[in-house]
Amino acid sequence: MGDFAGYRCSLCGKQYAPDEVTYTCAVDGGNLDVILDFDAIRRQVQPGGIEGSDDLSIWRYLPLLPVADPGHMGTALRAVGWTPLLHPPRLARKAGVERLWLKDDGRNPTASFKDRASAVVVARAQQIGAETVVTASTGNAGAALAGMAAAAGQPAVILAPKTAPPAKVAQLLMFGARVFLVEGTYDQAFDLTLEAAREFGWYCRNTGYNPFTAEGKKSVAFEICEQFTRAQTGGADPKRRQWDAPEAIFVSVGDGNIISGLHKGLKDLLELGWIEHMPRLFGVQSTGSAAVYNAFVRGVEMIEPVSATTMADSISVDLPRDGVRAVRAARETHGAYLAVEDEAILAAMRDLAREAAVFAEPAGATAYAGLVQAQQQRLLSPEWRVLVLNTGNGLKDVRAAMQASGQAALITPTLEALRKAVASG
Ligand SMILES: *Cc1c(COP(=O)(O)O)cnc(C)c1O
Ligand SMILES: [Zn+2]
Repeated sequence: MGDFAGYRCSLCGKQYAPDEVTYTCAVDGGNLDVILDFDAIRRQVQPGGIEGSDDLSIWRYLPLLPVADPGHMGTALRAVGWTPLLHPPRLARKAGVERLWLKDDGRNPTASFKDRASAVVVARAQQIGAETVVTASTGNAGAALAGMAAAAGQPAVILAPKTAPPAKVAQLLMFGARVFLVEGTYDQAFDLTLEAAREFGWYCRNTGYNPFTAEGKKSVAFEICEQFTRAQTGGADPKRRQWDAPEAIFVSVGDGNIISGLHKGLKDLLELGWIEHMPRLFGVQSTGSAAVYNAFVRGVEMIEPVSATTMADSISVDLPRDGVRAVRAARETHGAYLAVEDEAILAAMRDLAREAAVFAEPAGATAYAGLVQAQQQRLLSPEWRVLVLNTGNGLKDVRAAMQASGQAALITPTLEALRKAVASG
């Protein structure tokens, strides 16, 4: 366990002891950043020590996480993270980016990035003796919490909009969570979950509310830097004292908790002296759900809610709950925000699948759509090493995939019919 020293409010800076608060700042409701004791961590471990670990999951970074080892060896809880870092040449050519990496977080136990957050929240729940865990979700956060809770043998309750893609709802039910589909938006489910947690004494995982979600999500920063370094130097080095990092990272943004978690992880590494530069972070939203983008473009931190309409359901959010830190993640790293049309997201899904064999759900492909737009706008320097994060698997939303792919030809089972169909292209 990485020496957990307390929390600091991201708005007013007030500090809290580890047991003083559970969710947000008591003064202004701001998101809390977890504070770690970096000297203690440095004494415990070095990058090379982690490279020697045979734990191929987020738990190899336990010394940098504010939770105790959750146990449950041999379960899916121990299989979160350490997702593939690809370096796909055909996609790079298509994007016109010389040095392109693609991290595929669709390859997590419940097929999305959200497993990182849910695993760490379940570990925290266990540590504080919380029994039932609850979350509002557009689908993936719920599937991840339900899955991790099933691994740990913990009861879970999920509130999701009834419009969530069927595959995600199936996951919730299959993992044995109590599922309530809300006749309303994700934002309404979010507010109801806060009330429910108070009413029933449940431990609430809500994104941009529970400070441990960002701590789980930051693990992707550690993986990016470790895998990126090892890929470029030919393998693990038990004596290594520093990792390398890409110059630019593209990530899709809904509530803004992935980008702020990624930023936190990179800040931790800088603070430890384990990396030398901060990558530029590029947040990508759909034009149909662009509240964080709007704030970034206006140069403010105040997030004005929108009425979200995008088909990328995982980033369809009226009021991003981690918006302030999400704006700062791009601003403080000299990155930017981009907003892409849903049509561009569908095109990105096709490119990822056809040029790199990565089947992404719409919200996952949004990051790549942002890279394409950034290239068109000449925002990137040609020598930058660029990393795109896919956050969700395409099997999560087959209807959207069929929208991107088009339909197959239907034929009678004869060679003649096939010949005709082949000839007609
Ligand atoms: C949740 C999610 C996002 C966005 O994460 P936020 O923390 O809400 O910004 C992106 N892609 C997928 C697949 C997701 O499930
Ligand atoms: Zn505060």
